[in-house]
Amino acid sequence: MSTKRSLDTICIQGGWEPKNGEPRQLPIYQSTTFKYTTSEQMGRLFDLEENGYFYTRLANPTSDAVAAKICELEGGVGAMLTSSGQAANFYAVLNICQAGDHIVASSAIYGGSTNLFTVTFPKMGVECTLVSPDSTEEELNAAFKSNTKVLFAESIANPALTVLDFEKFAKVAHEHGVPLIVDNTFATPINCRPFEWGADIVTHSTTKYMDGHASCVGGCIVDSGNFDWEAHHDRFTGLTEPDESYHGIVYTERFGKMAYIMKATAQLMRDLGSIPSPQNSFLLNLGLETLHLRMPRHCESALKIAAYLQSREDVEWVRYPGLPGDKYYQVAQKYMPGGTCGVISFGLKGGREAAAEFMDKLKLCSIETHVADSRTAVLHPASHTHRQLTNEQLVEAGVDPSMIRFSVGLESADDIIEDIRQALED
Ligand SMILES: *Cc1c(COP(=O)(O)O)cnc(C)c1O
Repeated sequence: MSTKRSLDTICIQGGWEPKNGEPRQLPIYQSTTFKYTTSEQMGRLFDLEENGYFYTRLANPTSDAVAAKICELEGGVGAMLTSSGQAANFYAVLNICQAGDHIVASSAIYGGSTNLFTVTFPKMGVECTLVSPDSTEEELNAAFKSNTKVLFAESIANPALTVLDFEKFAKVAHEHGVPLIVDNTFATPINCRPFEWGADIVTHSTTKYMDGHASCVGGCIVDSGNFDWEAHHDRFTGLTEPDESYHGIVYTERFGKMAYIMKATAQLMRDLGSIPSPQNSFLLNLGLETLHLRMPRHCESALKIAAYLQSREDVEWVRYPGLPGDKYYQVAQKYMPGGTCGVISFGLKGGREAAAEFMDKLKLCSIETHVADSRTAVLHPASHTHRQLTNEQLVEAGVDPSMIRFSVGLESADDIIEDIRQALED
């Protein structure tokens, strides 16, 4: 896109620009394959010498249009959709790591990412050091080794609700010559654009607010194009030296600023194949068309509900980075002044038992493992995701036994507050 458009306009019109007589809405190209007239043409596609679609595992017009929309929202140079957020984070790291390498990640990240980095990656020979999101520069520096390739964190952590100090993390990553990868799922580009604060790669679980209607699992990787791989030639040889599986092309030479995302598409997606279906990409696009309208409402209602919870005698604690006085309020004001997300966590004075009783009494809000969609959803980690642990083990794992995770949906905030009131009082 040559001229800069507002995020609102990109949500509606980004990615798909029909020519004269073409469909106004993004068509679903429900096709695995694409037809060509000459064999030579097809050959050039396989050599990456010409752009064009040939097999949906590598690229599909519907999915590409949606990737282009998310790319423009984040202000990147290229993006790739994946079949899930897990696949996005897996590829984002694997694209520049191999056996013998090391990564540093914030300890306050999604549980699935913690498992991926600390259980599955080590089996593949990639080691991970976790660092506190509140680390000082010195503490961050101390986690780096000569074989470190990535620093990874979430803009707003799920479920810890810590807010990333982007500038500190970016500075340390760049001093060590590695990119900062930020999972921007909870904030979305509507509330925060990590590239403006030094992040090099952004990932998303589009399953959450981007889809927004709990209809399809998906993910995305966006490349800022800002990281200078050639300046660290020997550290990122997968990008800076010939790829034998593509007749020896060198991604940085052939694709310049697009090197990282082209390798992810041409090599990782070709070999590992976690593509979204064109149908799911279409549904994701419908969600994106209202992202700019939905996010402010999620945040406005979450703030009202967090304040209501804080005002109650029977509520022991409330965490919401948009709430004045929260530990991360100041840092959120700096990096996401327009709003944070719709997820709150809180604990009742009655602890674990009171949480279960409260949740059973809710009528409007439903018990679900999901977060970040249009319907208000509630989860008690001690009774659900972490139910095998005792109170002592929960505290060790950083989960308060009383913690209730409350994802504020798009229903009336007054109705949600009334539901909370009756569940606590009646
Ligand atoms: C849900 C989530 C993921 C995993 O995404 P899936 O789409 O469920 O695979 C990754 N990161 C964050 C922050 C998430 O909330």
